Amino acid sequence: MLKNKIENRCLLRHRRRNYINARKTSNPNSRVQFCYSYDGNQCISDKYWQVHFKVRVFCMSSQNSLKLKGKTTKTDLVSKVYEKLQKNILKFKQVSNKPLTLGEKILIGHLDESTDFMTFNGLTPGNGYILLNPDRVALQDVTGQTTILQFMQAGIKQVLVPTTVHCDHLIQARVGSDSDTKAAIYENNEVYQFLESASRKYGIGFWKPGAGIIHQVVLENYAFPGGLMIGTDSHTPNAGGLGMLAIGVGGLDAAEVMAGLPWEVLYPKRIGVYLTGKLNGWTSPKDIILFVASKLTVSGGTNAIIEYFGPGARSVSCTGKATITNMGAEIGATCSVFSYDDKMESYLISTGRKDLADIANKNKELLTPDPEIEKEISQNRDNATKYFDQLIEINLDELEPYIVGPHTPDLARPISKMAEDIQKNNYLDTISVSLIGSCTNSSYEDMSRAADIAKQAIEKGIKTKTPLQVTPGSEMIRETIERDGQIQLLRDIGANVLANACGPCIGQWSRPEIKKGEPNTIVTSYNRNFPGRNDGRRETMNFIGSPELVIALALGGRLSFNPLKDELEASDGTKFKLDPPKIAPEVPKDGFKDTVDIYVAPATDPESVAVVIDKNSQRLQALEPFLEWDGNDFIKLPVLTKVKGKCTTDHISPAGPWLMYRGHLDRLSDNLLLGAVNAFRDGEVGKGLNLLNKNIETFSHIAREYRKNGLKWIIIGDKNYGEGSSREHAAMTPRYLGCAAVIAKSFARIHETNLKKQGILALTFVESSDYEKIREDDRISIIDLQDLRPKGVVTANLYHSDGTVEQIPLIHSYNDAQLKWFRAGSALNILRSTERV
Ligand code: SF4
Repeated sequence: MLKNKIENRCLLRHRRRNYINARKTSNPNSRVQFCYSYDGNQCISDKYWQVHFKVRVFCMSSQNSLKLKGKTTKTDLVSKVYEKLQKNILKFKQVSNKPLTLGEKILIGHLDESTDFMTFNGLTPGNGYILLNPDRVALQDVTGQTTILQFMQAGIKQVLVPTTVHCDHLIQARVGSDSDTKAAIYENNEVYQFLESASRKYGIGFWKPGAGIIHQVVLENYAFPGGLMIGTDSHTPNAGGLGMLAIGVGGLDAAEVMAGLPWEVLYPKRIGVYLTGKLNGWTSPKDIILFVASKLTVSGGTNAIIEYFGPGARSVSCTGKATITNMGAEIGATCSVFSYDDKMESYLISTGRKDLADIANKNKELLTPDPEIEKEISQNRDNATKYFDQLIEINLDELEPYIVGPHTPDLARPISKMAEDIQKNNYLDTISVSLIGSCTNSSYEDMSRAADIAKQAIEKGIKTKTPLQVTPGSEMIRETIERDGQIQLLRDIGANVLANACGPCIGQWSRPEIKKGEPNTIVTSYNRNFPGRNDGRRETMNFIGSPELVIALALGGRLSFNPLKDELEASDGTKFKLDPPKIAPEVPKDGFKDTVDIYVAPATDPESVAVVIDKNSQRLQALEPFLEWDGNDFIKLPVLTKVKGKCTTDHISPAGPWLMYRGHLDRLSDNLLLGAVNAFRDGEVGKGLNLLNKNIETFSHIAREYRKNGLKWIIIGDKNYGEGSSREHAAMTPRYLGCAAVIAKSFARIHETNLKKQGILALTFVESSDYEKIREDDRISIIDLQDLRPKGVVTANLYHSDGTVEQIPLIHSYNDAQLKWFRAGSALNILRSTERV
């Protein structure tokens, strides 16, 4: 009581001074103001500013604000990583002296101490698991909530691996950057408070709302060549543009690594992409990955590292490389990577990390593939089979600009074929909105090329024919392109600048002007275009291209507009053709602008920090352990649904308005399978037959009814079930509502692991055609579960309502450790019981 009084008095006394401090020390353009005097949790001044200014005042102790502990990767960490790389590669070469790809070097360099190098050498790519020690963990504000809640259950005082949280997914695009960020800070206050307080307590760097999108901020501050990072977001591989193996994982994987455990992954296959020639004219790095997506399709990169090499690779800017590795997620790749080169060096220097560039320069042989590989492949492509499971070759001199979509990133065609495709498929030619930016394409180079097209339009006196939205990837980029004029050029043709956040890329986009069910075409430079992804509307068709191409389409107003041959009309009525964008600087000649007030360092006195979770919260819920397996077979369980066709994690656990409940498992579970197409009911989406009352109801409602009646249940999946984002909620919500098993024709890698981690049995049909045998009112038994052995076969009995019974074989990919997760009820139950020093 006395303590509270003192605090309150102190805070009230400081209230006026806080604001003065905030105004003096904050960037006047910044959308977030900060209180430097207060060093605690929920405070009176905080509430005061919320009420009076509808904005959260972030609390930072003066110590924290001065030290900015952890705001970049330290040189001693990088030196230690290179020492271990060197040591492990030497050990490996004593067993096998074959030349190594870069991906192999980084994997070998991060093998857990317990690894037997003889066994590792015997591993076949795509078969067998390895244990790795990642150097960093990155969390975003949605998946990060559950990750931290899970980490808290491990009973550890501080994270044992450097970790950061990035507040980017919860800012909804409505009007523009300032007001949208303020609104998000107000609406998500309790989530931000939780993340910030937990970060300060557990030693995690906290990037505030408005600071930028996770992958852009990581590239600017934390990624380094030769490192290994995991992140709770599927586009974590973005850091591969800076020579890092960066992999999207589920939150529990991240929590385990934060708690000091090694990370287990299937030893990946290797796909090589050999680049020759040079990008020119309208082609950009985006077109390289769109072309690769068209070749490999959405599952072609599954369980593989995609490694880009060759002279063409060295001609692509560092941020262009990041665009390419970012979108490796669209083809299901474990990650993608480029070798260390001059472009990376210049990016490191430009982002204030010359010290890291110096160390990297001294260790180049560790950060590039062994030279024999490129030499042999350049002489004879057949040599690629010695080093890669598959090789794709692209001559950049001949590459055309590409557009992909709608609804899937592998539906690609060169721009020259777009008009024909529109006619053939009856796509809507009129563009409703054009959008550039996101974590994928908001680099200085991207924005400069986009601005070059804008400049040409301004000179001809025209503006875009569609609304144009720009999402800068980070505050650093935004301030720099504000200073250097690119944003103004875009504004001058009609652009609206959104917050440095995900916004329309993840369904956080308010579009009241579009009627429910109204089909419409949008063009974006984003990475993902599943139905409902951008605005929660399945009818919106998203076509993806490079930022410069999107600007050209916005000026043309039509999807069929081909800037390489079609003309625009100037304000004086004359016709003109756009020139290809000029070669743009990869980094600003005056350096990037320094940013302030966007980061909170871990507390220097963590014991004094309390993690803020309101007991009555509708956004956050402490996690309860799932029950362990009771040792019995699954007997006569109902089928919740048989999913037809593509079923991404967005279909299983949609984003958009549901993002706000990601920290509250019970509330979030109401979105279970809302986007899934029911194979039993002629395309019905999100609903099915409740076998108990014979009504058609939402899947979450049926699941809750089954659970109430003590029934577990099963999901039947189609091909590549669970592709798309890494969202573990797509495994947690079914588990929470009583799912015992998912049986699919095939799984996407991350989702299959997530199911295993949450204690759901992930099984695959031996014969894909057995999928057809499952009927809506079947009861399924999965038997002999006591005999589960690694990578074994399991039997399912299908009890049809007509009294007949069929038996089908299923396989699984569990190893010993993963079987323990299943038996314990979840991997978290194992983590909780693990003794650590
Ligand atoms: S892909 Fe979109 S939603 Fe995901 S981090 Fe990037 S901008 Fe955000």
